[in-house]
Parts: sequence; C-alpha cells; structure tokens
Amino acid sequence: AERADTANWTGSGGTSDGSRVKILANVGAAADTAAAVSARAEGVGLFRTEFCYLAAEDEPDVATQRAAYAEVLEPFAGKPVVVRTLDAGADKPLGFLETGAEPNPALGVRGLRVAFDRPEVLDRQLAAIAAAAGDSGADVSVMAPMVATPEEAAWFAERARTAGIARVGAMVEVPAAALIAGELLEAVDFVSIGTNDLAQYVFAADRQLGALAGLNDPWQPALLRLIAMIGRAGGETGKSVGVCGEAAADPLLGRVLVGLGVSSLSMVATAVPAVGSAVAGASLRACERAAEAALAASDAAGAKAAARAAFE
Ligand code: PEP
Ligand code: MG
Repeated sequence: AERADTANWTGSGGTSDGSRVKILANVGAAADTAAAVSARAEGVGLFRTEFCYLAAEDEPDVATQRAAYAEVLEPFAGKPVVVRTLDAGADKPLGFLETGAEPNPALGVRGLRVAFDRPEVLDRQLAAIAAAAGDSGADVSVMAPMVATPEEAAWFAERARTAGIARVGAMVEVPAAALIAGELLEAVDFVSIGTNDLAQYVFAADRQLGALAGLNDPWQPALLRLIAMIGRAGGETGKSVGVCGEAAADPLLGRVLVGLGVSSLSMVATAVPAVGSAVAGASLRACERAAEAALAASDAAGAKAAARAAFE
C-alpha cells in the first residue's frame, strides 16, 4: 500500500495555483468531532443527523434535537457545517419513521421521501437545526438526502428557508438528479454528490454487497462521467458542487474530482490530511488533465492508472 503523504496539508484547501477547494469532514455524532478538529478539517461537509437517533423509538422533541445538534456544531463555530436532514430507510432504518414493509427498501420511501407524508417531522428538525446554528455560531447549511427531481429540491428549499436557514442544498445520489443537475441547482444554493448511493443506483448494485464492490468502485468511468455532468452544471450556474461520499477520501481521486469541477471534498476525518495535501500538490490544470484521462478510460483500473500517469 502507498503511504499517504500529508505534508502539504495546511488546514486551508486548494490547488497549488490557488484554486480554492474546501476540505471537510463527515461526522455522525458528537463523538466524531474531535477527529475532525485534530485533522484540521475546514468544517463539516456532511453531518449525518440520523446517526444521532439510530436507537430512538420516538421522535426526539425540538429541544432534545437542538441540544444534540448544538453539541456537534459547537467545535465548528465560525466554520461551515452542512447538516443533512434525516436519511431514514434502507440501510439506516429509524424506529420513529417506520416506512412499512417494502420489497425493495433501497428503492422505497427513504431519505427526503419520508418527509412528503410527514412534513411536520422535517419542519421540527429544521427548527431544531436553525436554533442549534444560533447556539453554536457555526455557519450552518442544510441539505436533503435522496432528492430525485428539481420539484423535490424546491419543496425542501422552501421549507428550510421558512425555518430561517439561508443556505440550502440537495444531495445528488439518484441518477435522475445527476442528469438534471442544472435545473436542480436553480432550486438550491449547492449540491453535494453522495457517491456511495450514486454508484449503487447507477450500477444497480447494492452498496452493502461485497460481491458487487467492483461495480461500486468510484473509479468506474460511468460514475466519473456522471460526476463530470454535475460539475459542468455547477460551472454553468456558478453554484458549488461538492462530493461527500467515500470517493472523496482517496487522494488521487480527490484530485480528479477537482478536475471535474468539484469545489469541496468531505470525507472521513482520518483522510483529511492526505486529501488536502494531494490537492495542494497539484495545479487545477493538472487535475483537469487527469480527469480527462480518467473519463476516457473504459474500466475502473484503467481510469485510475490514467489519472496516476497524468501526474508523472
Ligand atoms: C452517499 O450516499 O454517498 C452519502 C454520502 O450518504 P450515505 O453514505 O450516508 O448514504
Ligand atoms: Mg447516501
């Protein structure tokens, strides 16, 4: 295995020629924040709020949610934190958001879809997030999981803005959302690509099955080409495109994602110094050339080899 080079990580992300790229951490609960701070993450690109409640049988009231979120946000006062609203269902069932028996839970009522029938649950969560943002002084945005259409994104954005949250985003995890990213970006302020689910749905391959890990490889050119489309939509609308799936934790792939138009990378905290260092060691043009080479490959191994060769 290659030893990760972390020497160039300064705590402020960007390419060697000064193109800004935010290097952020993914957190699930207050226990994860210390690792994010010590890795000098610039903030949080994905706070998975459902992880606070995996054992809860009843919906926590607004005051309880506010305290839980504030505890996670406090270490990031003055820094950006993207709070994801509850992503219940499929691999993360929540006791108080039962969706009933479904033959295909990954294709069922999950993520934002749960909120369409129970908008009051979403509204209470948004109120708690807005209050916790004020308590902590963190620069809070919210984003919705499993958005499929611009209409869904607009529905969420309207509720979040009504709750007093100024910056609103949508995750791109469903291929339909990737294909219509330009219109999605008209409804929200930013998108963040969830490569774990996006790969699962693009390849029709369960992300939890080890036997299908080759299809869920984030170097798959089909996935990279979809990300390139989203990056172009970001460039055309002038809005930011991030990646918060596990793909962002690979230093070489992080460079390629930057070359595809991604301006923030959010990952498990332990990967922050290596990814921040890798991005700092490459120019934007070199990242773009590596991205072009990876896009032209016909398989995952070829994409990775082409990207590596582009930096030699
Ligand atoms: C993803 O799907 O890539 C993602 C970041 O969300 P989660 O892993 O929580 O489903
Ligand atoms: Mg997901």
